[in-house]
Amino acid sequence: MDLIGPPNQEDCCNSGCNPCIFDVYEEKLRKIKLGQHNLKMLKNCISDTSYSTFRVITKLKHTENSFLIIFEYSGQSQSDDLNLYFEPGQHFLMKSSLKSTSESFTRAYTPLLSDNLGRLQFRILVKLYEGGMMSKIINKLNIGSETLWRGPYGDFKISYDFRDVLMIAQGTGIAPIYSVIIKMVNDENFEGFIKLFYCCNEIFLHDEIYELKKYWNFDYEVFLGGSKKGFCKYNEIVHENRLGETQIGEFLKNKSENVQVLICGGENFSGCIKNYLKSVQDKNIFVF
Ligand SMILES: Cc1cc2nc3c(=O)[nH]c(=O)nc-3n(C[C@H](O)[C@H](O)[C@H](O)COP(=O)(O)OP(=O)(O)OC[C@H]3O[C@@H](n4cnc5c(N)ncnc54)[C@H](O)[C@@H]3O)c2cc1C
Repeated sequence: MDLIGPPNQEDCCNSGCNPCIFDVYEEKLRKIKLGQHNLKMLKNCISDTSYSTFRVITKLKHTENSFLIIFEYSGQSQSDDLNLYFEPGQHFLMKSSLKSTSESFTRAYTPLLSDNLGRLQFRILVKLYEGGMMSKIINKLNIGSETLWRGPYGDFKISYDFRDVLMIAQGTGIAPIYSVIIKMVNDENFEGFIKLFYCCNEIFLHDEIYELKKYWNFDYEVFLGGSKKGFCKYNEIVHENRLGETQIGEFLKNKSENVQVLICGGENFSGCIKNYLKSVQDKNIFVF
């Protein structure tokens, strides 16, 4: 597999993917010329400029409308030094079809940082939407089904410079946030405190988030926004109402300027939350 060769013409589906495979290639060439390209990426079994084949290894029902799916690389190059590399918070793009058709399209999914996976495997949480084009395809995937992926994409970089990190996630927006939390609480360089406000109708990754409570520097509250689909575990704070300016203000009160806020949710949600963050400097806010 040539990971730095130009993309195949037929890999561009002309459906306005973000990012476009050709733009990524141009940027990569520019970085290689400037000596800025991360060499680890060259041994990655997933590439941002060509599609790699991954087979479904497990597909578990997670909630009523969501699955946890593990994919494993099944491409041609199987050398020992190949790995699967992504930064917490980055996402991959899945292509709708194995064939190059003009109707193909891509959708973004966020690999979850998981320590019990094989070297060339990744796991995603997928919520299925009624009438959703990729949802229909994912719904039909079986063990052994082959799929095409490219990535990783996304330029979020973890910073350990903040005393407090407030993370605000909506729905499946918990996926990148969860990976970032795992990475941070396990890093001895991090001496700050993480607070998660999780806004959802159903609590995705409920057991996993609850498990994180064992870390001294992580705490969370869930906001169900009127829905009663969640149930409370021992010592867990679950609000039935929506997250509002008051709760965010309460959290930020008496905090120094040394606070970072990470937001991941739909466009409206993120815009609305940003409006509640007047006291936080723009450079300390990251929207996934
Ligand atoms: C960077 C990034 C990372 C993502 N990571 C994940 C992930 O880890 N897991 C995951 O499940 N999804 C993730 N998504 C969303 C995913 O890419 C798709 O948008 C989603 O799976 C729906 O695709 P679809 O083709 O089934 O629906 P579409 O055909 O695109 O949409 C059909 C209809 O479904 C409904 N719909 C679609 N998306 C949403 C939404 N987000 N909220 C509410 N209604 C919606 C709308 O009614 C829409 O009209 C991510 C998106 C981005 C941009």
